[in-house]
Amino acid sequence: MAEAILKAGQVLFVGAGPGDPELITVKGLKALQQADVVVYAGSLVNPALLEECQAGCEIHDSAPLDLEKVLALLVAGCRAKKKVVRLHTGDPSLYGAIQEQMEALDAAGIGYAVIPGVTATFAAAASLKQELTLPGVSQTLCLTRLAGRTPVPDPEQLQRLAANGGTLCLYLSVGMMAKLVAELLAGGVFTEQTPVAVVYRASWPDERTVEGTLADIAEKVASAGITRQALILVGEVLNARSKGVPEKSKLYASDFTHGYRKA
Ligand code: SAH
Repeated sequence: MAEAILKAGQVLFVGAGPGDPELITVKGLKALQQADVVVYAGSLVNPALLEECQAGCEIHDSAPLDLEKVLALLVAGCRAKKKVVRLHTGDPSLYGAIQEQMEALDAAGIGYAVIPGVTATFAAAASLKQELTLPGVSQTLCLTRLAGRTPVPDPEQLQRLAANGGTLCLYLSVGMMAKLVAELLAGGVFTEQTPVAVVYRASWPDERTVEGTLADIAEKVASAGITRQALILVGEVLNARSKGVPEKSKLYASDFTHGYRKA
């Protein structure tokens, strides 16, 4: 229960989910409802969630603040023995910059905990009605990005990851589609026929989906005018909806025995 996890004088990092305010966890919602201070990432957290906060809750948008100012809010709330929630978009562990906040809280002797959230990848897969792992097609999911102002370490350059095949989900990269396509092709596994889906603002009312192949997706995304807040899914699994599933899973196969069912 959130009662136990949201403690006065401590910070609770909460995943807000991808946008739809009902896609926060039950535990995350309870924490929001009980918080005295909420510092939320205004760029992608749905403000409708803040209506859940109790009257008198102190609410701050962290979008215009630097790390120091965010930390000052968290620390001041904790020193005043308030219940503090730091609300991050999607799941806090992905591109959330939470580690540096935790490190500073450690230094200040302030405790904290984390409640996970639904990341953009899973919201996008749900919007597409798409399984990301299919027997005989892909059993691996790679969550990554192209370098922007934040660099990507050399061994993780997209071209190298693309050489593994599988299903790739790219964050923070829709503004660089030409580069993205070039790197994916350079891996030598994906081809111009490899399917790609781009989901803009998955689970929001203005969600949009663009589907194509590595040959035409950059152009399609450009004509759709999508330059941010989108997730890019790449891989053969995306063909299953139009071309069918090549191999049924063992899990529900009648001749397959497992721990919960005899063939
Ligand atoms: N922690 C977040 C990711 C933050 S980085 C998470 O787990 O989802 C911000 C990037 O996430 C955006 O540039 C976009 O690529 C992706 N993103 C976040 N919310 C999204 C949504 N609702 N639909 C599509 N992409 C989204």
